[in-house]
Amino acid sequence: MFDELSEKLQSTFDRLAGKGQLTEKDVDIAMREVKIALLEADVNFKVVRDFVKRVKEKAIGAEVLKSLTPAQVVVKIVHDELIDLLGEAGRLDLSGPPPTVIMLVGLQGSGKTTTAGKLANWLRKQGHRPMLVAADTYRPAAVKQLEVLGEQLGIPVHSEGTEPPPPDIAERGVREAKHKAYDVVIIDTAGRLQIDEALMQELEEIKARVNPREILLVADAMTGQEAVNVADTFHKRIGLTGVIFTKVDGDARGGAALSIRAVTGVPIKFLGVGEKLDALEPFHPDRLASRILGMGDVLTLIEKAEQTIDTSKAEKLEKRLRQGEFDLEDFLEQLQQLKKLGPFTQLLELIPGMSGLKNALPADVTERELKKIEAIINSMTREERRNPRIINGSRKRRIAAGSGTTVQDVNELLKQFRMMQKMIKQLSGKGGKRRMRLPFD
Ligand code: GDP
Repeated sequence: MFDELSEKLQSTFDRLAGKGQLTEKDVDIAMREVKIALLEADVNFKVVRDFVKRVKEKAIGAEVLKSLTPAQVVVKIVHDELIDLLGEAGRLDLSGPPPTVIMLVGLQGSGKTTTAGKLANWLRKQGHRPMLVAADTYRPAAVKQLEVLGEQLGIPVHSEGTEPPPPDIAERGVREAKHKAYDVVIIDTAGRLQIDEALMQELEEIKARVNPREILLVADAMTGQEAVNVADTFHKRIGLTGVIFTKVDGDARGGAALSIRAVTGVPIKFLGVGEKLDALEPFHPDRLASRILGMGDVLTLIEKAEQTIDTSKAEKLEKRLRQGEFDLEDFLEQLQQLKKLGPFTQLLELIPGMSGLKNALPADVTERELKKIEAIINSMTREERRNPRIINGSRKRRIAAGSGTTVQDVNELLKQFRMMQKMIKQLSGKGGKRRMRLPFD
């Protein structure tokens, strides 16, 4: 999402940065480009109009601090206004006596059932004891789908098939959760292909019976302004506390995410970023704004790394490094940790200045490299991994054949490893007096 918008805004600001002084006309031209980029991204036109007006007013009256160029000041203003537009960070209200009830509502196919599973999974990682309730009796197989998700995750699902009225299922589900001391209940309600009266009445009834703390609309980001209209209708009728946009990993233009808060007043709370059950991210307006403007998203990167990297392994490694031991097994472990962070190209997008590089790289080339290295190391004997010096010509040929690579690949890997080992040795040199020498030193 936002790829095209991001590219256009960045090239506008690049052109602006080329000018030392900015005239009112320069700002005007840039703002016209921003306006077109936003409209092309399918942002609601009223939202665009107000946005550009506010940026222009601020830009023209802005004081340029000594440390910044005028173009940077404009980017900063756009950044701040984007954050403002996107609303506050998505937080769930889980206060009050347990169990907290979360109702998920939305149209069919929006990803509601999948999101119920993802949200339960996320809550459990936050230390909660969630339970799911299958109250979507309308879509064939939705109940079964939720049961399967629950089973995969090891999270309990209250289900009663498709016969009982959904409000009854919901109420009994909440009662069961209370009885069994689950602290959060997520109710998957029915959707329809379009909004209709019967659906709204059913949702109103469920709301009255279970008193939810959160009513979250699950909306497909790919549907653009239609998602905003759906949110508006649901909000007016049953009152939403938030939106979860799904399929953000697709090539949605992003206009819905940029418009929804301004048009409906409902904040975005989470983004669904893939089909897997851990592909759900709490919404951070500041990070998204930075990402759109190509300023990188270091915070998300750090958070992701913290969640993924096994700290006990990291500590063990640190100790080995300090003792000057670092072998191919450690090397492999490091690569495996890195791989857990997700596709390389997705990581690049999060690093400042690297998002442009993503397009320059053929997709997944770096991941292929990683796989190759992994295969090579896996083809070595334990002894070879611990003491790579013993790897002679015939061993190299065996390793290459075993990993489906060439002797050249094996040599390349050993060279990389030796360089890394050398740098680490220098880092952990006796007395800590030696300083690290960088390759370009
Ligand atoms: P429901 O009818 O609203 O309950 O929809 P489902 O949960 O069955 O989801 C519909 C389809 O969207 C499924 O194929 C899901 O795997 C897919 N889906 C849901 N969320 C996401 C997401 O964030 N990204 C992607 N790529 N697919 C998603």
